[in-house]
Formats: sequence, C-alpha cells, structure tokens
Amino acid sequence: MSTEQSWDVIVIGAGAAGLFCAIEAAKRGRKTLVLDNGKRIGRKILMSGGGRCNFTNIYTSPANFLSQNKHFCKSALSRYTQWDFIALVQQYQIPYHEKTLGQLFCDDSAKDIVEMLQQECDKAGVKIALQQDISAVAFADGHYQLQTNGISRTCASLVIASGGLSLPNLGATAFGFQLAEQFGLNVLPIRAGLVPLTWQPDDKALYEEISGVALPVTAEANGTLFPEDMLFTHRGLSGPAILQISSFWLPGDAVTVNLSPQQNVAEFLAEMQQKHPDQELKTALTRLLPKRLVEKLLEQNLFTNQPLKALNPKSRERIADLLHQFVFKPNGTEGYRTAEVTLGGVDTNELSSKTMEAKNQPGLYFIGEVVDVTGWLGGYNFQWAWSSGWVAGQYC
Ligand SMILES: Cc1cc2nc3c(=O)[nH]c(=O)nc-3n(C[C@H](O)[C@H](O)[C@H](O)COP(=O)(O)OP(=O)(O)OC[C@H]3O[C@@H](n4cnc5c(N)ncnc54)[C@H](O)[C@@H]3O)c2cc1C
Repeated sequence: MSTEQSWDVIVIGAGAAGLFCAIEAAKRGRKTLVLDNGKRIGRKILMSGGGRCNFTNIYTSPANFLSQNKHFCKSALSRYTQWDFIALVQQYQIPYHEKTLGQLFCDDSAKDIVEMLQQECDKAGVKIALQQDISAVAFADGHYQLQTNGISRTCASLVIASGGLSLPNLGATAFGFQLAEQFGLNVLPIRAGLVPLTWQPDDKALYEEISGVALPVTAEANGTLFPEDMLFTHRGLSGPAILQISSFWLPGDAVTVNLSPQQNVAEFLAEMQQKHPDQELKTALTRLLPKRLVEKLLEQNLFTNQPLKALNPKSRERIADLLHQFVFKPNGTEGYRTAEVTLGGVDTNELSSKTMEAKNQPGLYFIGEVVDVTGWLGGYNFQWAWSSGWVAGQYC
C-alpha cells in the first residue's frame, strides 16, 4: 500500500553532513525529513576517532583539503567555521580536549556528539526515518519524487548526504554518485583515502616480522610531506603519516620515508664515533630507531654491523642516505574496508560553492563526503561535513 507524503526538504543520509543540513533547514521553518538506510543515526560519528570523535581541527583552513578545485571549499569553511562548531559543542557542555596538532576529541564518547545532533534535530522539528530503502528518484513539475519502502514522497529540495564508500559494512553505498549521474552531473573517479598502504610480496616477507614497530617519520609522496608517526603492520605500513600520505599516493608511485627526521644521521654517527669509537653501529643506531627495525635493516645487508671507528665519512653518508630516504613501492592500499574516506566524487564544477546546489538541476544539493572535497586526517572531514551541511541548510 502506498501513501503519499509531501516535504519541503528531504535529506538522504543521517550522517554528519545530512543531520547538520536538516537542522539548519528546519530552523528556517522548512518541513524537513532525513532518510537513512541504517538502524541509527550518525553511525560513522560513533565509531570515529576511536570512539571519541575527532570532531574538528582548530587549524582548519582550505589548505587541509584535496579537491580538483582547491578553491571550492573556501566559501563553506569560512561561513561555518571550526569555531562555530566548537561553540555548539561548548553550548552542550560536551567535555573535549586537543589531542595533538589542533585535533579536538570528546573526553568521554562520540555519543555526546550524536546526542547533541539528535537534540538539535528534535528542537528544530526534523523528522528522521531509518532503515529506508530508496528504490527510485524522479524529478517532475519542479519536485522530486522518491519511492521508499512502499511510500511515495515528494519534496522541493533534495539533499544528498549519503557519504562515500568507506566502511561498506556500515551502510556505505554508491547511491550519491549514481544519483548525480542520473541527473547528468559529472562524477570524478573515486578511490580510498586515509588508508594503510600494503607491501609488495617481497617486502611483506621481509617486514611482517616487525609488525607493531612504530616511530616518528616524515613520509613523502608526489611532493607532499607529512611529519607524523608510522606503524609497521602485517600487511604494510600504517599510522598517521602513512594514512595522510595515502591520499596523495597513486598506484605505481613510490613513498619516501625519512626514518630519522629529527636527527641528521651522518652528524650523529660522526659524533658517536668520536665519543664511543668501539661501540657497534647497531648499538648506536638503536639510539635513533627501534631496535627491531635496526636489526631488520642489518639483516638485509643494507649496511654492515661494525665498530663505529671503522666507518669513514663516505660510509656514514651512505647509512644516513638509507635512513633519511627509505623508499618503498606499495602494492596498493587496504581499500574501502579500512579507509576513513573516499577521494573524488561529485565534481565541484557542477555545484555552487555558496549553496551546494547543482548548477543545472534546481533543488538538488550535494554535501559532505559525496562531494569531491576530502580533508586530511585530523578532524577536517567532519568540519567539511558541518560546513557544507550548514551552508546547504541556509538555502535548501
Ligand atoms: C573509522 C572511521 C573513523 C573516522 N574518524 C574521523 C574523525 O575522527 N574525524 C574526522 O573528521 N573524520 C573521520 N572520519 C571520516 C568521517 O567519518 C566522514 O568524512 C564523515 O562521516 C562524512 O560525513 P557524511 O555525512 O558526508 O557521510 P556519512 O557519515 O558516511 O553518512 C552517510 C549516511 O548515508 C547513509 N546512506 C548511504 N547510502 C544510503 C542509501 N542508499 N540510502 C539511505 N541512506 C544511505 C549511510 O548509512 C550514512 O548514515 C572517519 C571515518 C571512518 C570510516
């Protein structure tokens, strides 16, 4: 049996962007409904930041985002800023702290953020329908018609906030990309971002034994460099430095890792040679690097263990080069299964940066991760969700 429902705004996706947009639209008096395929709202928020949700970054600026059009995100980020979201979090008296590099996390639980969004929805009068299977969307007479679970719904404004493909077991679908194509919008190629990189088979055999080893590094790919921690895993390399660089890495590219970013290895060895000429190279290097990593490098005969006094300036330089430029060619990434984000998506050239509305399809809006705007690791992706959701909510 089919019942007809008419709305001003329907938002597809009860994630960060969709809920934020719906709240703003409803505050303007728009009759607003959010549809989601899951059993609860904000599922990704709940599991983000290790359960504590890194909800924004105090240093957010357009420079922290990847997009084919680097200027697109500027408008939304400047109209709803990290400070606006922090003010909302403070208004709800949610305890939070800065973990590192401007990253703000809840002290207690990501649930605090979801509960805040739920309360804002309730206050503004947003309706939410969960476990919805949207089978068709059509546009006629200036209205969108949606078929969902035997219910036919219409709306003047349709907002797509269905996210990307990361974490398929959390309800991620290609819905937003397919809908964009249905309405003739260009969708840029998508790929997994903020994702661990995997070893080539030979490297796996070599390095899987030292999984668990972590150290501060700088990682570089395609001219972009991140100084953060790196972690050896059974499958490859992970940790913040690698997750960050993965968004800039393309298949076939090498990644160059500086294993000793804070200390010039040649100078260190020269100094140690003077102070402790009989000390073994291995012992000296363990002052710079984790012991298991030093042993692994020696095992490969990349350099020989010998008393420091046996090293000449050339061999010191050679060891330094090896450690400052550890090059590896990933086999690939762990893919959407573990990726935090999806790079690419709805081409920003198709959208107004002021309203997020499609330029050639009145009343159709795209916000959040479905759009070709992807933040670095560190709270930037949620800030994009809040900012893009907020601006769309002023117009939809
Ligand atoms: C494990 C993990 C941890 C993360 N941690 C952080 C962090 O700490 N800080 C940060 O800034 N970013 C983090 N991110 C990234 C961040 O979660 C996303 O960028 C952000 O959630 C995107 O918001 P969104 O609203 O656009 O999409 P989503 O949050 O993905 O929401 C989309 C919603 O649409 C629904 N949906 C999808 N398809 C359909 C359909 N066909 N019909 C109906 N509903 C549909 C989904 O079920 C989902 O509820 C993390 C990501 C992951 C995977």
